[in-house]
Amino acid sequence: MGAEGTAKFGRTGVTVEEAQRRIAERIGIGCTGTERVGLLEAFGRRLAEPIFADAPLPHFRRSGLDGYAVRAADTAGATPQSPARLRVTETIACGAVPAADVAPGTAARIMTGAAVPEGADAVVMLEMTEAEDRDGVRFVLVGKPMEPGANVAGIGGEAETGRLVLEAGSVVSAGETAVLAAFGHSVVTVARRPKVAIVATGAELLPVDAPAPLAPGRVRDSNSAMVAALVREAGGTPILWGAVDDDPSAAAFAVRSALAEADAVVTTGGVSVGDYDVMTDFCRTWDGELLFDKVLMRPGSPTSAGVRDGRPLFMLSGNPGACYVGFELLVRGALLLMQRSSEPAYRAVQAVLGEGQYPGIALRRYVRGRCHSENGTLVVVPTGADKSSHLVSLPGTDCLIVVPPGGRGVRAGDAVSALVRRHSPFA
Ligand code: AMP
Ligand code: MG
Repeated sequence: MGAEGTAKFGRTGVTVEEAQRRIAERIGIGCTGTERVGLLEAFGRRLAEPIFADAPLPHFRRSGLDGYAVRAADTAGATPQSPARLRVTETIACGAVPAADVAPGTAARIMTGAAVPEGADAVVMLEMTEAEDRDGVRFVLVGKPMEPGANVAGIGGEAETGRLVLEAGSVVSAGETAVLAAFGHSVVTVARRPKVAIVATGAELLPVDAPAPLAPGRVRDSNSAMVAALVREAGGTPILWGAVDDDPSAAAFAVRSALAEADAVVTTGGVSVGDYDVMTDFCRTWDGELLFDKVLMRPGSPTSAGVRDGRPLFMLSGNPGACYVGFELLVRGALLLMQRSSEPAYRAVQAVLGEGQYPGIALRRYVRGRCHSENGTLVVVPTGADKSSHLVSLPGTDCLIVVPPGGRGVRAGDAVSALVRRHSPFA
């Protein structure tokens, strides 16, 4: 074997955790910067700044019900047989300011969300009262004693001024949108989406619209589209750079120009030790910093990554299953970090393997799976044949089942660890 062969085969693998650490160390949190967008455009984005309550919520004593604002002391000892009879002084609509305080012996009709007048310290539900009209004077009968504070949301009861209500890095979803709206954020500062260029390599690749039947040995470039979807899921903007032949100079040109334009570049294919593995060749002469060229995992052990001027270059395997796993383990977290999200992309959970049998091999294995709960136990089931070349088993994947290296492996019924997507209901 010549020097070239030795270099190709002499890769020293790093663990997935070490690979993640090296990437995280080189790319800055929030390195893509921030931008201001309208509240509705902020959906799905990550907040660049924490949001603090700049006023108490609610900022007035708010009625929780339709009913009557009363002084709790006036209802002491009330029973259905001997109700408290209170004179009704006014009706307070939502958004209105009470005309007067509630004096002893009186009550105010009040709507849900309206301001509770001074003097009153409880609201009696309308259904628990009876109205009475005596010669044009309105009364309300209350048949049970009220606790002070009942059905009244106090000032700052939800959030005191200065309280952290949304953390930086939070994904803006419906609940976050409500909080932003309630505190007056019609424009929101979010992390700029990382622009991720996707370069597919392989002389066999055809465009997605290539009509059947395909020539023998040719395949449609499914990785570019799949990686674009993964980039979107991770909050980035994919830029399809197209497919390049297994020609070292064409691949090098594509990767260099992509790196000059994008915040990150993901390549697929050409990274193992075949004769036409253009990314392996590219790494040998690249002026960027190579972070690793082998990861102790299956699938996708030749997965490599480097960085140049703070911009990461992820070189994923071409096999669709390996490409998917490589992205999920190494790229997703990096894109989140670039958007200020310091939470891990995944959560490791304990589960029971629902189906299948996997021998312990030399490398830690990640099996694409799906989670569900059975009588309170989390069960993970492989999505199909776990071949790195298979892609029809990719749909529906929501976790990666971890098969530790060596030993007897795992089989159905065993406790296993699984990496569950952060926003999965099972995470
Ligand atoms: P490679 O990693 O380049 O050795 O490719 C491994 C396998 O993945 C080969 O069978 C390729 O045809 C397939 N492959 C590589 N790139 C793609 C792609 N962009 N879309 C679909 N399959 C691919
Ligand atoms: Mg190839």
